[in-house]
Formats: sequence, structure tokens, C-alpha cells
Amino acid sequence: MEQPAQTVKAGEINSKFKYEISKFRGAEKITLCFQCGTCTADCPVSRFSEFYRPKKIARMIQLGLKDRILSDKHIWLCTTCYTCVDHCPQDVEIANVIRALRNISVRHLKSLPLVYKELAENLMKTGFVYVIPETRIKKREELGLPPLPKTSPEEITKIFELTGLLSLLGTSQTFERVE
Ligand code: SF4
Ligand code: SF4
Repeated sequence: MEQPAQTVKAGEINSKFKYEISKFRGAEKITLCFQCGTCTADCPVSRFSEFYRPKKIARMIQLGLKDRILSDKHIWLCTTCYTCVDHCPQDVEIANVIRALRNISVRHLKSLPLVYKELAENLMKTGFVYVIPETRIKKREELGLPPLPKTSPEEITKIFELTGLLSLLGTSQTFERVE
């Protein structure tokens, strides 16, 4: 069942928001969305979520509902599979638009899903997104598989520091589930 529609109030409209989004690489064409619905029809997440609708996200941005969309945790459900990007007749690249939304949302609300924080911490510790257990490494040896590629967690941490991600991770709250 769809969430009940909330009436749009003039005071919540930020007409410049779509231009803020379009400054992000890959999100330049957000204003070209003509609401055909192809992205939602083909999105694997929309198939299983009652609420996640990329077409609606595009419209909310065009309307300038900045606060509403930035605080909507459903923006974190996108798996970045890029099906919508492949199929959009207007080349909107909605997956990149959602990435832009997430970037702005974390900076504004200082809040992100726990899993993203954990993945970033794993990268800084090991250079891999997931911590590979010792048992798995031993098993690779037993099977004659090549060793894991060398990583440089220090360099990754430096990048996180220079881009501001490190301080953002330190100051942000996390939440566990998006439904
Ligand atoms: S497929 Fe493209 S044009 Fe159609 S609703 Fe989605 S973003 Fe808009
Ligand atoms: S990239 Fe995100 S919005 Fe696009 S089809 Fe995949 S899950 Fe849906």
C-alpha cells in the first residue's frame, strides 16, 4: 500500500534544489525527467518495496521538496544497479541523482545507515569493504588459490581524511533499518 500523499506546501518549496543536484557529476539531467515511470517499472528495489519509487524521487527534486526528500530514508534503498540509467529515455541517470541526494543528506542531517559506516571502517582497517576472515584466507591457500591482492589502508584513510569523510563518519549518527 502506498504511503498517504502529503500535501505540498508553498513554504517548503526550494526552487533552486534541482540546480544544486544537477551540479553533481552524472546528475546533470535531472530537469529533463518527464515522469514516464520507466525507472520505477524496471527498478528491482521498487518491485519489493511499497515506498521506494525513483520516479517520485525525481519529481520531488524537480518540485524543490528538499527537506522532505533529504530526510526520506528510502533514498538509501537504491542498490546502484544502474538499470534505471540504462533504460531512461531522457538519460536522467537517476542512480547518480540518488547518489547526489545521499551526499547532501549526510552533510545536512549528519546521519547515515550503519552499514555504510561499517563498510567505510572496514576499508580503513583492511583495504577491503568486507573483513576477510582468517579461515577464508587459509582455505584459499589449501585450495591453491592466489593470495589476496595487497591493499593500502593508510592511503584509503588519507583519502577519507582529505575528502572530509573521516570527520563526517566521526560526527554522524547511524540508523539500522530502512523499510
Ligand atoms: S525513466 Fe527517466 S524520464 Fe522516466 S521517470 Fe524515470 S528518470 Fe524520469
Ligand atoms: S540504480 Fe537504484 S533506482 Fe536505479 S534501478 Fe537500480 S536500485 Fe532502482
